[in-house]
Amino acid sequence: MTTRRAFLKSSLAAHSAIVLGAAPVAIAQERGLRATPACGAPAAPTLAQTEGPYFKARSPLRASLLEPGVTGTRIVVSGTVLGTDCRPIPRALLDFWQADDGGGYDNVGYRLRGHQLSGDGGEYRLETVVPGRYPGRTRHIHVKVQAPHQPALTTQLYFPSEQGNASDFIFNPALVVRMDSIGSAQMATFDFVLREARR
Ligand code: FE
Repeated sequence: MTTRRAFLKSSLAAHSAIVLGAAPVAIAQERGLRATPACGAPAAPTLAQTEGPYFKARSPLRASLLEPGVTGTRIVVSGTVLGTDCRPIPRALLDFWQADDGGGYDNVGYRLRGHQLSGDGGEYRLETVVPGRYPGRTRHIHVKVQAPHQPALTTQLYFPSEQGNASDFIFNPALVVRMDSIGSAQMATFDFVLREARR
């Protein structure tokens, strides 16, 4: 993690410039896509869940997991990383990994794996495809979220109105994203609340 942090630090300036330039939070709020974080301090920290068997360290730095060969329904997952005091957490590391639309993980390379840093307002935005189901599991996206100098939260995100949710013993309704369809675009929203030991 230390070496990864060092690598991230070196690419931080460029990344921040992109996030600030796009001002995604302001644009999204104007369109009414994102709810104000339901946060009355102290907010309840996001529930931790099992990492599962398919995490791989050193995923590439990228906010989009779309690349040639990745098929399925495109989806944008976005939101804010907050502390339990409701303050946004900039520079939080978000490391996502998921199954492809056929329910398979890439355990050789890094397909559908990537990490990014939250922006100055704690915002993040992931472009990906809806993950497929695999035996025993409903659709889900794995993620580790880590504020600077804090332990990582490992958890999973789920989708509403999924047939598989009821029979998945790991599923928890507290981790369901909010879905909005804007035209043909699928937009999912989820805010992560981290318990921070210090600022
Ligand atoms: Fe999984």
